[in-house]
Amino acid sequence: MAHEPLRLRERGAEVLGPEELNLDQAARRGFVTRVRDLLPAATPQERGDALVSAVQKENGAVARAIAEYGGIEDHKLVLALGQCIAFDVPEVVPSLIAAGVDRDSPENHYDAPPIVLAADRGRVSIVRDLLAGVDLQRRDKRGRNAIAAARDRGQTEIVRMLQAAGATARTPAAIAKATRQKLAAGARSTWAPQLGGTAATGDASRFGLPSLRSNEGWPACGDCRAPLTFFVQVDLSRTPKAAREVFGVGLLQLFHCTACNPSHPFSSGHRVRIVDPADAVTDATKPKGAHVLPERPITGWARAVKDYPCREADESALLPEERAVVFTLNRQGDKLGGWPNWVQDPDYPRCPHGGHRMTQPVLQIDSHHGVAHMWGDNGVGFIVQCPQHRDAVTFLWQCA
Ligand SMILES: [Zn+2]
Ligand SMILES: [Zn+2]
Repeated sequence: MAHEPLRLRERGAEVLGPEELNLDQAARRGFVTRVRDLLPAATPQERGDALVSAVQKENGAVARAIAEYGGIEDHKLVLALGQCIAFDVPEVVPSLIAAGVDRDSPENHYDAPPIVLAADRGRVSIVRDLLAGVDLQRRDKRGRNAIAAARDRGQTEIVRMLQAAGATARTPAAIAKATRQKLAAGARSTWAPQLGGTAATGDASRFGLPSLRSNEGWPACGDCRAPLTFFVQVDLSRTPKAAREVFGVGLLQLFHCTACNPSHPFSSGHRVRIVDPADAVTDATKPKGAHVLPERPITGWARAVKDYPCREADESALLPEERAVVFTLNRQGDKLGGWPNWVQDPDYPRCPHGGHRMTQPVLQIDSHHGVAHMWGDNGVGFIVQCPQHRDAVTFLWQCA
């Protein structure tokens, strides 16, 4: 049997004996003796390639021989460790550790620290071997440390080992709290409207039917000429003091054409304005052909709560798992002030009095909250104001 390859070759067969294989080929085929013969003359790169090949072919004895010989490129040791985890070849890991592999490096094809990868894949003995010398708080791209990855995958034995080693993963509440603290400088107050059941009159805040100046008619769409639909009015003079100080006073009103349904600001298909508090207003009567939404009086404003920016927060100080919860800190639904619940990229319109941005959200009108209307596919509408010119207000809406 030992002479079979030579005899075959004499007869023209393309079979090579172990003594004719190069290091990488010998490693792939699992010829330990030949590998040992070739290691001294090999370069660090060739030894590294052969090591990775041996692991991928699950030739543990060969891989151990190469790792124990040493003189291997550092990044190949890291790659080999990643492959030991991926291909489940735990017997090589102690030799890699003895050869000085960087046990924390995520440069292993999987962008994950080895301990997280091993925890995720359920490699119990590899986790045990790595445990002593690694940073247990290192995270993968999804923001998981080893214990979070093990919990994710239901690897209970590994969870117990990591707990015994002192690894901890923050609870969702702790992550949200840390994120709020890091974004505290950008937090704003916001107020949700309190809706009542009975009809409101005069300049009271409400959805449904507007009040109009005594000398004016019902506004019409600049595009299709149909009567606009009234959406909401807010008597800014009766909003909480902190809101009033920012937005000013007067009766803020939004009319919108539900036929043209324009989403962009300063469209002729909507009318946004702040009626001067000195102007007398009377309850409007519904004109022929106007679409009127159900009346919902706004009887007051809920206690102020903190609101955090969404899609416009400075996330540079946040960890990956904190970035993942930023959107949950931004209040949804109808609200006065706060930060827009942007569905798309932030889109503050330019002020008509000078081209600067109108970065002050006054009122957010969500789909099917105070008003029985859906903005596109469950979108959100925003009335925004210029921080320098309080009379400059407009409306836009976004949906997914
Ligand atoms: Zn229209
Ligand atoms: Zn302006």
